[in-house]
Amino acid sequence: MYRTIAQLDAAIDTLVDTRPDLCIRVPLNNSIEGRPINALRLRAGGGENRRGILIVGGMHARELMNPDAIIELAFDLAQAYTSETGLSYGGAEWSVLDVRIMMETLDIWMLPCANPDGRHHVMKTGGDWNWRMNRRDNPGTTCEGVDPNRNCDFMWRVIGPTTVCNPCSNTQGFVGRLPFSEPESQNIHLLCDAHRIDVFVDVHSFSEFVLFPWGHAPTQTTQPLPNFTSLLMGFCRPLDPPGHQEFMPPTDQLKYQTVATRVADAIRAVRGRNYVLKTIYQVYNGTTTGTTSDYVYSRHIANPALRKTFAFAFETGPNTGDVRSSFQPADPEPIKLDTKAGLVALIQQSVCAIEFIGETLQAGTVQPLRDARDELLVPTEKGRGWIELVTSVQSELLGMVLTDKALTRRAMSLLLRVQKLSVARGKATVSAGDIKDGIEFLESLKSRATRPEVREAISIINRHLKKAAGQTVEAILKKLAKSNPPTL
Ligand SMILES: [Zn+2]
Repeated sequence: MYRTIAQLDAAIDTLVDTRPDLCIRVPLNNSIEGRPINALRLRAGGGENRRGILIVGGMHARELMNPDAIIELAFDLAQAYTSETGLSYGGAEWSVLDVRIMMETLDIWMLPCANPDGRHHVMKTGGDWNWRMNRRDNPGTTCEGVDPNRNCDFMWRVIGPTTVCNPCSNTQGFVGRLPFSEPESQNIHLLCDAHRIDVFVDVHSFSEFVLFPWGHAPTQTTQPLPNFTSLLMGFCRPLDPPGHQEFMPPTDQLKYQTVATRVADAIRAVRGRNYVLKTIYQVYNGTTTGTTSDYVYSRHIANPALRKTFAFAFETGPNTGDVRSSFQPADPEPIKLDTKAGLVALIQQSVCAIEFIGETLQAGTVQPLRDARDELLVPTEKGRGWIELVTSVQSELLGMVLTDKALTRRAMSLLLRVQKLSVARGKATVSAGDIKDGIEFLESLKSRATRPEVREAISIINRHLKKAAGQTVEAILKKLAKSNPPTL
C-alpha cells in the first residue's frame, strides 16, 4: 500500500534507467543513517536557464502518502509526454499540449522522499507509526530526532506551538543544534543554491490545506520595515516583539492567492474535495519557524542577490478524526489523485509564456513589461482582473505559438516591440502599424484556439487594442487599471 524506502529507490532507478531522455538523478547529501537521498530532474528537450519548480515530499516521516504520489507523478508525466495522451486525475484534465509545454519549458525537480531514515523507522517491523522527525541521535539525551521542517535558517529557534528547543517534546518539533544541522533540511538549501527554482512546494499531510508564507508571524502588505532580518532569533524565545507582522509585497500576495486558488480548483475538479488556503502561521495560530517554505521564499529578502522563489506547502488528505488513519489511510489512492492534480496545477502555473518567449528564445529581458504591469495594473482590483484574464489563457496560447515556427518568429518580434514601448512607456506611442501587427497575430491564434474562453479572451483584448493607436503603454495600462475586466 505504501512504498518502502527500497521500493522508492527502485522506482527512481527505473525511471532514470528507462527514460534517460526525460529524467536524471540528482544525488544529494546522505541521511543521518547514511541512506542515499536522490532528487530527480524531469524535462524534455534542451535549453539553459529554464524556469524551475521543486517538489518535495516525505520531510515528515509518518506522512506516508506524499512520496508515493510524487514518484507516481514523475512516471505519469513521462508517460503522458511520450504517448501524447494528456493527463487526467478524476475530473481534472490536462491536454497533450499542456503536458508538452510543462515538460519542454520547465525544469521539474522532485525530491520524493526527503527523510528516508524517518520513513524507514515508521515502516519497519516493530517501528513507530507516529514518528515525524529524522533519526538524529541528540547528544546528552535519550531522545532522538530533529524536525527537518523546523531546522532551516529562517527565524531559527524562535519558538511556538510546534517549534520547540526540547528534543524530548512530544510535539516532535525539535529545531536541532544549528540551522541546517540536518542533511535532510540542508538538501533543500543545496537544491535552491545549485539550480534555478522559481516555484517550490513541500508536500505534507494532513488537513486539506494549500499553504504559503509567512509562518513566524501574521502577514501584512503595508509596512515593509521592520522585517524579519532585524528580529532576534536563535535564543529559544517566542517572537519578539510579540505583535510583529511580517511584510509581503501586494504583488506577491496576489500571486500567492491566484496560484493557490488554481491549485485548489484543480484539486476540487478531481472528486470535489475543498482544500482551504491559509498562511503557515494560521495553521497553528502561532509562530512556526525554520520551515522549508518560509526559508525558500525568504532567501531573496535575506540576500537580494538571490532569485525570488514562490514557496508553497500542501497538507494532503482529510482529518478523519483519527491521527493514524489521517496520516496513513487504508486507501490512499483517492488522496494521491488530489495531490497529483494540485501538483500539476502548480507546475502549469510555473510556466510563464511571456518570459519563455522573451528569455529562452533570447528576444531580450521581459523586466520592463513586468515593471509596467506591477506598477500600473497590480495596484487596482480591476488591473489585477486584467492580469488574471491573460494568465488564464497564456498556457494555451504559448502552446500554439511553440508548435508553429512562423508564429514563434512573429511572437518574438512583437515582444521586442512591446519591450521597446514599455521601456519608454510614458513617451513612445503605439503606432497604427503596431496595432495592426498585434491584432493580426492574435486573430491567427484565435482561429487555432479550441477553448471558447481563449477565443473570447482574444476578442476582448483585440477590442481594446483597436482603441490604443497613438497612445503610450502607460496611458493604455492606466486606462485598463480603471476599467472592469470582463469575466470569462
Ligand atoms: Zn508534515
